[in-house]
Amino acid sequence: MLASKMLLKTLKDTPQEAKIPSHILLLRAGMIKNEVSGVFNYLPLGLRVLRKIENIIREEMDNSGAEEILCSAIQPKEAWEESGRWSKYGPELIRFKDRHEREFCLGPTHEEIFTTIVRDLVKSSKNLPLNIYQIQTKYRDEVRPRFGLMRSREFIMKDAYSFDKDQEGLDKSYQNMYDTYSRIFDRFHLKYRPVLADTGSIGGNASHQFMALSEVGESDIVYCDDCGYAADVEKAEAKADNYQMNLEPADIVEVETPNMRTIEEVSSYLKVMPKEMVKTIIYYDNFNKQFVAVLVRGDREVNEIKVINAIDSTENDLRLATEEEILGLGSIHGFCGPIGLNIKILVDTEVSLLKRAIVGANKANYHLTNVCYGRDFTGQVGFFRKACGGDLCPVCGKPLKQERGIEVGQIFKLQTKYSLPMNCTYTNEKNEQVPMVMGCYGIGVTRTLASIIEQYHDDLGIIWPLNVAPYHAVIVPINYKDEAQQALANELYNTLTKAGVETILDDRDAKPGFKFKDWELIGIPYMIICGRNSVNNVVEFKVRTKVEEKQELPVEQVISTILNAVKDIR
Ligand code: ATP
Ligand code: MG
Repeated sequence: MLASKMLLKTLKDTPQEAKIPSHILLLRAGMIKNEVSGVFNYLPLGLRVLRKIENIIREEMDNSGAEEILCSAIQPKEAWEESGRWSKYGPELIRFKDRHEREFCLGPTHEEIFTTIVRDLVKSSKNLPLNIYQIQTKYRDEVRPRFGLMRSREFIMKDAYSFDKDQEGLDKSYQNMYDTYSRIFDRFHLKYRPVLADTGSIGGNASHQFMALSEVGESDIVYCDDCGYAADVEKAEAKADNYQMNLEPADIVEVETPNMRTIEEVSSYLKVMPKEMVKTIIYYDNFNKQFVAVLVRGDREVNEIKVINAIDSTENDLRLATEEEILGLGSIHGFCGPIGLNIKILVDTEVSLLKRAIVGANKANYHLTNVCYGRDFTGQVGFFRKACGGDLCPVCGKPLKQERGIEVGQIFKLQTKYSLPMNCTYTNEKNEQVPMVMGCYGIGVTRTLASIIEQYHDDLGIIWPLNVAPYHAVIVPINYKDEAQQALANELYNTLTKAGVETILDDRDAKPGFKFKDWELIGIPYMIICGRNSVNNVVEFKVRTKVEEKQELPVEQVISTILNAVKDIR
């Protein structure tokens, strides 16, 4: 490709809206163009990378035995009503009506459609197991689209769905996808960690997320170096701290805590540790139209996902109760406690283990001390706090560590969550209709692209791994008008291109420094500079990973180095 003919415009300055390296560099390198918030156009260089990423995923999915299809983004409401998700999926779902008032949505995911396809086309158990996938555009009206391709409103996902006869089959299909995902993310040279995950609005009973490790990630992970336990904090559990184990219960005392509402205020006023106190957080669950109090120790945070799962609500339906609503429940904001509160109460295990807890008295300016679960109040005990680094591993008891990650993929055991209500069945030996046992498997293709940049960049720009780089090599003549330079550059370009090396010839009439900066920003792995020594067939050779090193080499040697590298690309 001739640089002069490319649709290419790099930016010197960081666009104001971009906050993280991948977003900044994708815009600056002219790989994507922003249309409106969370909506992007892929320019030629960006599209080349995207296609390579898709093809690696496609190759590994095909090798795993899965078969590719392509569905429409448009999905009818009826399918979502059959699964029960039309009412459960919140405002993220982009809904619309056609001219006949028929309702549709733009697919944020495709469980319903794949289930319908298999239900209609597959009747015999001879066709099972089956794994079908697509690489397709998804739509989610995210509350806060941000970080460029990381969280956009339109994005590309690879989604696969497996259909098995029974649980044992699903376990195999799931493991096959787990292994396939590991191979895919290995091929992207990502540093990643598979972790246990919550199943969210997709549903099912087991799930893993694949997390690309990065400080800009929006997910928190806890993991144990000793036994290998690793989980997203939404899912993570930890051993309960039972530090009051040897205390005897004592009588409740009402203490005045004038205007002290927060854990910090009350604990320093009463000269106690935050972990002796209990936070009583009151939520309104709009899905089940009920108030719920959640109790965690004063040094802990509520894990709202665990709360949602326990009460079978949704993320969009759970909100904090207002001060007026709390008054209506006979309590007062800042002084809430479980005693005398007539609503559903979820008690974190650690709170249930306290023998002498300090809780709000449900009246202004008072707290109660020596409160004891079982004796003074009850509720549904479970894991309702957020696990964090330093907590003890739920499996082996060693201290957990914490890090941040970008969720690039997630796999789920759906079981019969969709096949049962949607009647996706096969006929068994006894001539009975049995629901198929399903799994679903997603990779954020465009998010993966951004994640590679997060892990592979420096001050100058992107450092693409060779197998996903938009081009392998660029030839930069110092002065393209110079006869010897032009001749050598052209010859090199022809040789490399013919040999299958994706090469750019920078024939632009611009200063060499300007050209170098462009290609370093874009992240082309190999740069060949044709300068004064062109007459002797000697060029300068630069590798993007070692940008400070510039070697003067005979042109043949450069060609063979590049050919060698390119022939091993996978
Ligand atoms: P998140 O928790 O980040 O919102 P999710 O769990 O809702 O993601 P899934 O339903 O598991 O997402 O979708 C499969 C994959 O699609 C995710 O693992 C992620 O890589 C990608 N993905 C999801 N939402 C977005 C988005 N808004 N922009 C880009 N990629 C996304
Ligand atoms: Mg997910």
